[in-house]
Amino acid sequence: MSDCLFCKIVAGEIPATVVRQTDHTLAFRDIAPKAPVHVLVIPKAHHPDLAALATADPGLAGQVLATAAAVAEAEGLAAGGYRTMFNSGRHGGQEVFHVHAHVFGGAPLGPMLAI
Ligand code: 5GP
Ligand code: ZN
Repeated sequence: MSDCLFCKIVAGEIPATVVRQTDHTLAFRDIAPKAPVHVLVIPKAHHPDLAALATADPGLAGQVLATAAAVAEAEGLAAGGYRTMFNSGRHGGQEVFHVHAHVFGGAPLGPMLAI
């Protein structure tokens, strides 16, 4: 999608600090990290949110999860633990409508939700 921020990162039109990629997934550091380690994992193909991805291509959804786990391992988070999160829609606080998993870690992350 030509007006999608993360599609532009996939295309190399907007720079990002890439930490891992596969044929179909890309992982890069969040521009405004909310934890010592904060990486976003996306499918290279555009799907707006988790439901759309899971419906259109569940295999690709699995590849996103596998890349998230590989990032956690490579970033040294596996032993101490980490958190993965998909925001969807308005109540979920989704800001970028190209599905992405957040991978947070590097310190105790506190309660699951603050509402
Ligand atoms: P959401 O709220 O949609 O779940 O998360 C979007 C995330 O994208 C936010 O954590 C935000 O900091 C991050 N983000 C927004 N613009 C950019 C950008 O241009 N580059 C990178 N690396 N991250 C971005
Ligand atoms: Zn996109």
